Amino acid sequence: MAEKRDYYEVLGVEKGADKKEIKKAYRKLAMKYHPDVSDDPESAEKFKELSEAYAVLSDEEKRNTYDQYGHAGMGGFSQEDIFNNINFEDIFKGFGFGGSSGGGAGFESIFDLFGFGGGSRNGPQQGDDLAYHLDITLEEAAQGLERDIEVAHKKPCPKCHGSKAEPGTEPRVCPTCGGSGQVRQVSNTPLGQFATIRPCNTCQGEGKIIDTPCSECNGKGIVKQNSTIHIKIPPGVDDGSRLRVPGEGDAGKRGGPPGDLYILIKVKKHPLFKRDGSDLIYEMPISFVQASLGDTVEAPTLDGAVDLKIPSGTQSGTSFRIKGQGLPHMRWTGKGNLYVKVKVITPKKLNSKQKELLREFADASGEEIYAEDKGFFDKVKDAMGH
Ligand SMILES: [Zn+2]
Ligand SMILES: [Zn+2]
Repeated sequence: MAEKRDYYEVLGVEKGADKKEIKKAYRKLAMKYHPDVSDDPESAEKFKELSEAYAVLSDEEKRNTYDQYGHAGMGGFSQEDIFNNINFEDIFKGFGFGGSSGGGAGFESIFDLFGFGGGSRNGPQQGDDLAYHLDITLEEAAQGLERDIEVAHKKPCPKCHGSKAEPGTEPRVCPTCGGSGQVRQVSNTPLGQFATIRPCNTCQGEGKIIDTPCSECNGKGIVKQNSTIHIKIPPGVDDGSRLRVPGEGDAGKRGGPPGDLYILIKVKKHPLFKRDGSDLIYEMPISFVQASLGDTVEAPTLDGAVDLKIPSGTQSGTSFRIKGQGLPHMRWTGKGNLYVKVKVITPKKLNSKQKELLREFADASGEEIYAEDKGFFDKVKDAMGH
């Protein structure tokens, strides 16, 4: 499959676009690509892509997740989760859909296009994926960590094993749909006639009627349950990484497999070190005397301090590499480096002795300095050569 396009690009808006601009862009493009008005054979796909981009960017939480993690971050949302905040009725008012006579048929057909409406509800369905946000420190990222996390997810009911019927009772075939779970409905809209396959109302698309629902789950077949899950984060993990824990999402429907759990990792800012891939950068202040004469200083690393030799004549901004004191590489063995970038600090307060010595130093270097304790008029006179 082709690479997924950036949502902002799909809608043709800037990254900083506000809700109004996003809605406007979506309406305009949706008008063009709605499969019932467009002759483009790919209109359904384009319409779906547009709608998905709009669904994500019009929802603050989803947009934040997308801005931070890109498409990878959306793995925590099921298709239904992604679309659940779109108010199609509101969006398509201008199309003539959504009035009382339309009966909402336009929206249902849109859901059919996306492949999760109508008919598809009857078969086994994979459970929803879940996202878990985990904040870790840079030290934890360097070493890797194992942790037990609490996850609230839907599991098959332990009493009826997901059948929804009280053990010992049998469901019966739905008389309305004859067990198919679907009914066909034709609606007239200003854009033409829509034939929609809708889930049967009598059995909610299940195809069967349960007269004695399971008492444990009230006939839902699933129960919300907290589980403790042991996770292992490998050393060197990057900010924004996504760890998949298979099968720990929500339970599937009608015998479908469970979804997955995605651990979305955020590495917190460190007070000393900046990170660049597997390298670390530390900015270290040194005095101009140390820079001039050279010195051995203590540089911090993630495993404690190490000695670092500053050669004489070091310029501010010079970086020194301390090999292997970065983070482990994720894709190959070995570690990144620590770069100590020195910043030469000019003293702000000098006592008279220090000033004296610096003037002497300037003299010895043949440098002429206007002393700061000379008055303004003295400086003017000096400058005018009097
Ligand atoms: Zn049950
Ligand atoms: Zn039915």
